[in-house]
Amino acid sequence: MCNERAMKNILKKISLVFLGIAVLAAAFFVISLFFDEAVFVRKGTLYRAKVPEKLVALTFDDGPSPEWTPKVLDELKEAQVKATFFMLGDHVRRYPEIARRVLAEGHEIENHTYDHHVLIYYKMDELEKEIKDAQDTIKDVTGVVPRYFRPPKAWLFSREKKKIEEMGYRIVLWSLNSKDWVTFHDKQITAYILKRIQPGDIILFHDSGGVFTAEGGNRKQTVKTIPRLVKKLKERGYRFVTINELMSEQHP
Ligand SMILES: [Zn+2]
Repeated sequence: MCNERAMKNILKKISLVFLGIAVLAAAFFVISLFFDEAVFVRKGTLYRAKVPEKLVALTFDDGPSPEWTPKVLDELKEAQVKATFFMLGDHVRRYPEIARRVLAEGHEIENHTYDHHVLIYYKMDELEKEIKDAQDTIKDVTGVVPRYFRPPKAWLFSREKKKIEEMGYRIVLWSLNSKDWVTFHDKQITAYILKRIQPGDIILFHDSGGVFTAEGGNRKQTVKTIPRLVKKLKERGYRFVTINELMSEQHP
């Protein structure tokens, strides 16, 4: 009897461990769906374009950075690729020369808020100010009025979406997340993208920031990924476009 009870206890403990693992795996799956591909908030946004040919858009968030953006620009120039930079108003104000260089080299500058705050905590007038301040700073520094908006960490719901669209913006997320802020090797980033790439994909990179901040960080892997990934995608027949170009090629 004693042995039977002991066995039952062991089985109970084993099933609890398995249950715990299953719960953790499910949580990890849901979190990665949210943060990797932002699938729960995609509705009504542009995250992948329906295009008749092999087009792909590289996008870089959180810059400009005095350390990393010039390196990203050098690699893009070498690879003869134009990209889209979702910039923070605060960083544009602090590093105006770099923002102007991005534009001068034929890339596109779009809006990623002024301070990189998560939008769902804002009242509507605060959200409007956050986006408008970035818009005004980008316009003052570069002369360009951004028309595409990417929300920090993709956190937004229908209330925020409606307000942002009322301000004249199209919301842009991504279909492929390079995870360059947590991945430690450019080969890994490239392999991940090559395995999943589809025509019309929008790929998320960062030219500034670390795991928890939008400033500083180590973007060495991002810089190294550009030539490797571009070469491989060109071999597969892909052409690189900005978000504006991608939109103009999209099927109605
Ligand atoms: Zn960001």
